[in-house]
Amino acid sequence: MKQFRFEYQNSESFAEKLSDFQKECDSANIKTKLFQIYSEVLEADVIREVCDVIEQFFPDTPYMGCSTSGNIIDCQLSGNITVVCTVFELPTTQFRIFQYDLSKEPVEKITERIVEETEENPWVKAIEMFFTIPEGSTTRFCDGLKNVREDIQIFGGVACSDDITSDDSCVFSKGAGFSEHSILILFYGGEAFHVDSINVTGWKPLGRKFHVTKSDGSILQELDGIPAYDVYRKYLNIKNDENFFYNTLEFPLFYEHNDTTILRTPVASNADGSITMTSDIDIGSVVRISYGDPGTIVESIKADSQKISDFGPDLLHIFSCAARRTFWTSKEPTYEIGPFKEISPSSGFFSHGEFLRTNGNLNQHNVTLVIAAMREGEKKASAEAKGSPAADSLSKVPLVSRLATFISVTSLELEEMNRKLEFANEKLKMAAIIDGLTGLYNRKEIQSRIEQALLEVGQEKFSLVMLDIDNFKQVNDTYGHQEGDSVIVGLANILQNERTERRRNVSSGRWGGEEFMMLLQGTEASSAAYIADLIRQCFANTDFPAVRPQTVSLGVTQAKEDDTLDTLCTRVDMALYKAKKSGKNRVVVI
Ligand code: GH3
Ligand code: MG
Ligand code: MG
Repeated sequence: MKQFRFEYQNSESFAEKLSDFQKECDSANIKTKLFQIYSEVLEADVIREVCDVIEQFFPDTPYMGCSTSGNIIDCQLSGNITVVCTVFELPTTQFRIFQYDLSKEPVEKITERIVEETEENPWVKAIEMFFTIPEGSTTRFCDGLKNVREDIQIFGGVACSDDITSDDSCVFSKGAGFSEHSILILFYGGEAFHVDSINVTGWKPLGRKFHVTKSDGSILQELDGIPAYDVYRKYLNIKNDENFFYNTLEFPLFYEHNDTTILRTPVASNADGSITMTSDIDIGSVVRISYGDPGTIVESIKADSQKISDFGPDLLHIFSCAARRTFWTSKEPTYEIGPFKEISPSSGFFSHGEFLRTNGNLNQHNVTLVIAAMREGEKKASAEAKGSPAADSLSKVPLVSRLATFISVTSLELEEMNRKLEFANEKLKMAAIIDGLTGLYNRKEIQSRIEQALLEVGQEKFSLVMLDIDNFKQVNDTYGHQEGDSVIVGLANILQNERTERRRNVSSGRWGGEEFMMLLQGTEASSAAYIADLIRQCFANTDFPAVRPQTVSLGVTQAKEDDTLDTLCTRVDMALYKAKKSGKNRVVVI
């Protein structure tokens, strides 16, 4: 693969350049080629002029393009209309262009058609996409491409304009023409075509995580239950004024989605305390404020560029965020992508959002660099010889970067500690209400549940069942205390099963020793007596490994509106006493 680049100034000079290029192509017998046009100029008639010149000299060559917020050639800013001609040198390499009109077809239909096309064209290895600035989220589009064959790489960018805050953008291609609401899809592939793609942010997470508790598409309303803007005010002292976008540019949000970390930038703060983000953030997701430090970003890009260098590409396509251009303006807009310059020729543009498929999921990123590396045939020997890219490392890590790391690590440690505390707290809470031997509620808990039920006895009737194992002293005396315990646990298990079967209606607790209390909500005395008798029978039929079968006596009573805990418990105790008095192993209702 080879790239030829042209800066468009006017149709005359461009025609001269293409005329020369045409001769070059003829003499070198160059056949398969593609023109890509990156334009900071959005006027349809200017773009038409550029396309006309291409059609005039290369009537059979496909072309396509999009509006941008600045163009990149060999890792440096190029002219405001840049034309790149990619030449494919191997006969097996193929490409195809599709343009889908978003105003004519629903997104689902478009993604379905793209998936179908990939199935019909098994040679496809990569999809490059160019989106006009979407009205809503691109999530449905991204999700719709989940079914694209797993080995196909997908990357691209959202078209933009030189005004990063404007919603104007366009894409265009031979045949389909100019559009302000379309997606351009470019398939690449063939036996000897190879592709690799990465994304790099360089931004580092700073501080603790926040949960998105309220959001509506790209409007981030609340983080941890407070207005999203308050987080920026409290932690970074950023004012809610017209400079909000520029002040927050160093501090976008890291957002976990599809197991991928994505950056989202605040675009504007709103009067209600919400923040408009560059793209949508789901409710329930976790975000962290992140910090962009120039030195750290460059170091991180250098490290990631190694992978691209190892791939030995013929050329690179670069999609960098317009927000990164703004971030670097004080130095030089393409300063950070320097490490890629040594690797291979490159072209690209500053976009309104960057796309990359990772782990099978396509995501729209912001403030991110997406680099696609392509080559035909085997890795070139010269590429290997080049080795690692630009080695002029920044030896001194800036203080702020160290502080960001320090804060981030401290926050992670605190979060971990918090998790452990929450777990221990949960265990303590359970220990405070559960009886250790039986796993049923303890007396305090069952008492408080009865008190609670008494407050609502006017609305919902309930009954109590009190149980006491018969002649239990003998069990202990004959078989020992430990075997006695197994009998207590045996009865507790029967009560636990009863609770599971009848769900929320039953609470069972250990009242003391071998006595138990059941609270049956929404249950009259007659039904409670029926359940009590089932328990009695079940216990009498329970075999204990070392103890002969035992029996239990049960007292039942229904709560009255004027009952207190005391009167109610005295009555159920009386019922139990009567059961004991009248021969045990029976149920008495009062
Ligand atoms: P009754 O039929 O009248 O209930 O006769 P009983 O022998 O069961 O008499 P009572 O209910 O008063 O006896 C309770 C006995 O339970 C006394 C005590 O030794 C025994 N006990 C209390 N708590 C435990 C315990 O946690 N484990 C064991 N193994 N025995 C206990
Ligand atoms: Mg007892
Ligand atoms: Mg007893």
